[in-house]
Amino acid sequence: MTKQNCALCGTEIGLLAQQKLADGNYICRKVCAKKCLKVMDLMHATLDQVKTHIQQIEFGTKAWEQIFVPLMKTKVKDEKLKYLCQNGQLVVSPSTGLVALIQNDYKFFVFGKTTRACVYRLADLYRYEYETEVTKDSEGKDVTKHFCYLGFSGVSGLSDFRLPISSQSDFLSIEKYFNTLFGIQKTLRNVGNNFKSQINAAKAVAQAVKAVKDKDADMEAKAAGAVEALDAAVYGDRTEWIKKADIALATVK
Ligand SMILES: [Zn+2]
Repeated sequence: MTKQNCALCGTEIGLLAQQKLADGNYICRKVCAKKCLKVMDLMHATLDQVKTHIQQIEFGTKAWEQIFVPLMKTKVKDEKLKYLCQNGQLVVSPSTGLVALIQNDYKFFVFGKTTRACVYRLADLYRYEYETEVTKDSEGKDVTKHFCYLGFSGVSGLSDFRLPISSQSDFLSIEKYFNTLFGIQKTLRNVGNNFKSQINAAKAVAQAVKAVKDKDADMEAKAAGAVEALDAAVYGDRTEWIKKADIALATVK
């Protein structure tokens, strides 16, 4: 069968050691594929995405070591980290406005582990959804696997992924945590709290519509205001989250 050369390190790779990418490039499983986190879907990634992902891990691992690790031992209640997902792969730092996706790599014969991470701004988290997949076990019985799907906007490299969770109720507690963080109320019980931001959004839309009618010079500004107000109603106001995260990320050396 055909041998290929790894598009990253150039080494010649036999069929079993080849990882094909979405754009037809190949990378070696032994070294270069392992530079990516396991949740990265390489089959659907391009070579550029893989390269960006590797840089994302380099920066993310530094951010993990310099921001998250020191906070593990904090006694300050507001600075405590929140571990989501049963395997602790997703770690939120509300005080810095960041969330880390981590992977622990254990080495044979070497004591301890190394942790690598992708670190995201919480403000960029726009999708968190529940997904299931049904597979057959060795006896042919259906087994349902549960996942939490996360999608970040404006992120290059690994921007969306799904993490295994043990049940739907795991997802509901993750969803509730993020909704509370962003001030999003989805249940009818809380409709009163959400009402004000919806009214603001409606007002801004009405203004923008009026601006179009009147051929208002500020039309664009008003339309932009409407979009922002709508976003705030649906996703929560993220201004403070962006500020916090950018201040924290600027300290990473
Ligand atoms: Zn390689």
